[in-house]
Amino acid sequence: MVNTIDPNKTFLALPSDQDASGRTLGREEIELVSEVIRSGTLTSTKGTYVKELEQKFAELIGVKHAYACASGSAAVHVAVAAVDPEPGDEVITTSITDMGALSPILYQGAVPVFVDVDPRTWNVTAETIEAAISDRTKAIIVTHLFGNPCEMTEIMALAQRHNIPVIEDTAQSFLATHNDQVVGGIGDIGCFSFQQGKHITAGEGGIVTTNDDAFARRMQLFINKAWGYGDPKPDHYFLAPNYRLTELQGAVLVAQLAKLKPVVARRQETAHQLTEKIQDLAGIQTPWIGDRNTHVFWKYCLRVDDTVIPGGAVALAKWLKENYGIFSAPRYIQKPAFRCEVFRDQRTFGDSRFPFDRARPEAVDYSADKFPATFRGLEEILVLPWNEAYGDKHIAYIAEALIDAIDHLSHTV
Ligand SMILES: *Cc1c(COP(=O)(O)O)cnc(C)c1O
Repeated sequence: MVNTIDPNKTFLALPSDQDASGRTLGREEIELVSEVIRSGTLTSTKGTYVKELEQKFAELIGVKHAYACASGSAAVHVAVAAVDPEPGDEVITTSITDMGALSPILYQGAVPVFVDVDPRTWNVTAETIEAAISDRTKAIIVTHLFGNPCEMTEIMALAQRHNIPVIEDTAQSFLATHNDQVVGGIGDIGCFSFQQGKHITAGEGGIVTTNDDAFARRMQLFINKAWGYGDPKPDHYFLAPNYRLTELQGAVLVAQLAKLKPVVARRQETAHQLTEKIQDLAGIQTPWIGDRNTHVFWKYCLRVDDTVIPGGAVALAKWLKENYGIFSAPRYIQKPAFRCEVFRDQRTFGDSRFPFDRARPEAVDYSADKFPATFRGLEEILVLPWNEAYGDKHIAYIAEALIDAIDHLSHTV
């Protein structure tokens, strides 16, 4: 890579969440995993670590029940299955999220109904949700994007008025709070991911949380082929996969969970340091955080103003990569989810188009004019990678890079 400004400049390598440099994996995880291997019990149906994880996680989030499962996508699937929509029922969701939050809706035979977002946070709002509620709405799924909570007070009030359960996709927002309440424990069900790049990890993995005993029962069953473990006359009660976590993952996650609070605190501390250094720069805006919320910085997301920085987020990302070796992601996702082929062309089960074949036309109307903030947002977003191993020198380096970039790219300087 040639640095166009200074060919002799050496890049500072930022810690990465894809390897040990940006993860908290260490001796504690190795000890517990070794213990599992020595025991010879690798399944959670007989072992103790997944159970310990579930109990400690429920305590941490402040809910009655938590059940571990294979991934964050599996967690969302478990949540939708708990709500048990009829084929063609509708689930309101966002088009700026991970596909793992969306495909489970289709697998359960429900129709995802996309709504627009708050232009400041790119999160869905009570207002955008309300416009999409119909007599077929069976659930609302909200993603707390990048670790920044949705305005849950208004969303819960709306949902309760219509008697619709709220599923929180908390994959990016461990321990984020709204009104001092931890997300994942505010809605009816919370869904977390332990994928490699999340706050804590076992490579893959997920967990669902709830205070509702009926949802809890269905979720536990759904993870376990709907087999009634412990029942007097167990059976396979309904259609369900095996979404269990292994004891190997459970052991890693018991060790990881003990590190979660410091991980979150560290990410917040360095994020605030960066915000202080760059908040006055023209052409970029630091993360907007509602005054009832705390942000836990899964990623640090800038808003780039292309009227000040020609070429916008894409030009800024290119410049950061070439001149500082910093890999950022314009847009986060390449296009709104509803523009992906699975939704656009309704590619699901054979040629059936199921469940889209049962959808109200309005529910699958993806006209761009319904989603102004979504399209605008994807133009403006620049995602900086973030993790708990960042220190003062990394923050100073990122700030210097941004100041330098804007100096070179901006009209105003
Ligand atoms: C990561 C993620 C998922 C999916 O989790 P996996 O563990 O990768 O299946 C779902 N929703 C959001 C918002 C995510 O960030």
